Amino acid sequence: MQDTTTMGNVEVLSVLDMYSPGRAVDFFFPDVPRESWEPYRESQLDENGEIALPYLLFALRSQGQTIMIDTGMGPGPHPSRANRTGDLINQLKRHGIGPEDVDVVVHTHLHADHVGWNVTYENGQPKATFPKARYLVPRADWDYFTQPDVLAEERNQHLRDYVVPLEGLGVMDIIDPGHVITSEVTTLHTPGHTPGHICVMINSQGQSGAVVGDVFHMSVQIEHPDWCAGVDLDKPTGQHSREQLLERSEREGMVIAAGHFGVDDHFGRVVRVEGKRYWQVL
Ligand SMILES: [Zn+2]
Repeated sequence: MQDTTTMGNVEVLSVLDMYSPGRAVDFFFPDVPRESWEPYRESQLDENGEIALPYLLFALRSQGQTIMIDTGMGPGPHPSRANRTGDLINQLKRHGIGPEDVDVVVHTHLHADHVGWNVTYENGQPKATFPKARYLVPRADWDYFTQPDVLAEERNQHLRDYVVPLEGLGVMDIIDPGHVITSEVTTLHTPGHTPGHICVMINSQGQSGAVVGDVFHMSVQIEHPDWCAGVDLDKPTGQHSREQLLERSEREGMVIAAGHFGVDDHFGRVVRVEGKRYWQVL
């Protein structure tokens, strides 16, 4: 597994928190007919013909700052994920990163598999897992997910446990689109999967790159940007964001980091062969 790359002066490290258990293709992509998966069985599905996504996340080193993009599913065990457990902190250590080394945590969005290590509980009290970090949360996601009826939904326990406490701990900054983290790392609003979803964009020494969050769940969506995951809150808007990002990445020769692609193919480029777009692993 290639777990580091560079985009200009920015170092990009990938870290695996855990794997999701397999899900049926028509559960994950409810509008895609089963037979459309046939050509992709080998490259995209597990041995049971199901979708088992890794929860990878990325850390950037830019201008002396260590920037974590999302925090995975969390320690667990997670009843919604076959009681699996997350391993982020140990995996960060393999890269020589301790929790106190992280300067910024930026969230692409506020779903459960992206916020789980934000805070850790000791004697029932939350404390910031990354004690020196500012936690950046896109405004439109904060506004949407903290609506009382949304926050109260059973499936949103992760918001109550791992997102809302950030405010009381005084470690959170709400950010608007186009936020500048360092002069070479900024955010781009890519709504659809969630209202405030952002990509983290890198521009350094003439090289551009993007950490794409859940604009893409699988590399098959490079060929089929109209395949929308059931978990996308606004599918047409999400598809539009995906198509725009594809166009831009092709034009700029961007390096893309995609946290739900396979562990061996999460760094790549969008290339065009005979008029069709493909994912080319770095
Ligand atoms: Zn996700």
